[in-house]
Amino acid sequence: MEFKKLFIPGPTNVHPDVLAKMATPMIGHRSKDASDLQRRITEKMRNLMFTKNKIALSTSSGTGLMEGAIRGSVAKRAIVFSVGDFGNRWADLARLNDVPVDLHVEESGNPTMPKTVDEYLKTGKYDVVTITHNETSTGIMNPIDGIADIVRKYPDVLFLVDCVSSMAGTKIEVDRLGIDICITSSQKALALPPGLALASVSPKAEERFNVVGNKGYYLDLKNIIKYIDKKDHQYSSTPSLSHMFALDFQLDRIEKEGIENRFIRHTEMAEFMIDWANRHFKVYPKPGFESMTVTCINNTIGFNFSDLNKELGKRGMQISNGYGELKDKTFRIAHMGELTLKDMVEVTRAIEDILKLK
Ligand SMILES: *Cc1c(COP(=O)(O)O)cnc(C)c1O
Repeated sequence: MEFKKLFIPGPTNVHPDVLAKMATPMIGHRSKDASDLQRRITEKMRNLMFTKNKIALSTSSGTGLMEGAIRGSVAKRAIVFSVGDFGNRWADLARLNDVPVDLHVEESGNPTMPKTVDEYLKTGKYDVVTITHNETSTGIMNPIDGIADIVRKYPDVLFLVDCVSSMAGTKIEVDRLGIDICITSSQKALALPPGLALASVSPKAEERFNVVGNKGYYLDLKNIIKYIDKKDHQYSSTPSLSHMFALDFQLDRIEKEGIENRFIRHTEMAEFMIDWANRHFKVYPKPGFESMTVTCINNTIGFNFSDLNKELGKRGMQISNGYGELKDKTFRIAHMGELTLKDMVEVTRAIEDILKLK
């Protein structure tokens, strides 16, 4: 196998010191050390997420907690706002769990606007709203502040946000925004191997879990939280302690970089990429709503993507094609996790060289 520098939107590059922590010897998952580990992770995740809410970990990818969250939160009906495939996923998860749901899909390239959210919530039909903060399939970042201002007007509505590809790359102030369940995965901007999902859970969400019926077992957030509360920061089943060792260490690295510095690094990479993409191609999302962690670019010159990625591979780099419907129309370059501006200069120069741009 040849390992390349990854410019794909997950899994992202993992620092060798973090990878090494995955090889930490095992401890008992009912030990005091395991409780201490979970407690340390909770404290550091709260700092990163700007929240006092409870932190749930799940040995699954992010989709696991998305499933648990939507299944456990809806007593009436959910409204799902989608600007791409990961938005649609919320609706699929609801339907497959027999959760009543409506889906609003935005026109291609457009974000979810606060006004649209208001129009649906005004009807009084819904008790859950889901938003994809950063839609990885289309490179759209939704205006979460404005959406939060709307959702706040409806105290009986739970606010579920997919921050899988933005958490740890952009500032998401969970408590200020009033996000009830904020979900992320280990393998995106957190820059860990895949296999761990994380969510913050508000007291309001916890109350709702009590009135929702069949929530299953493994992904039931009420069950996960119960063990954290009653069993001193443990799990109902055996967690991936390896991920937890690595996460504990990675969160120290993130604090050492400085959380704000980390956000600035991501913004600088994004601004560089958006400018570069618009000079040579065209960025897919409507201007002003470009993602800070992944740039989705229209292939305006009709180059052959797999040829490009093969050539990049020879130079030790890998980017991503489009996703779903946009598979052949766009390509995506991620700028999250461990990547720096220098890496973005390197990958864009290589693309210019291979495609003979300019
Ligand atoms: C990657 C991703 C998911 C899915 O997460 P998994 O960890 O692969 O289950 C969901 N939403 C968004 C926005 C993503 O980028």
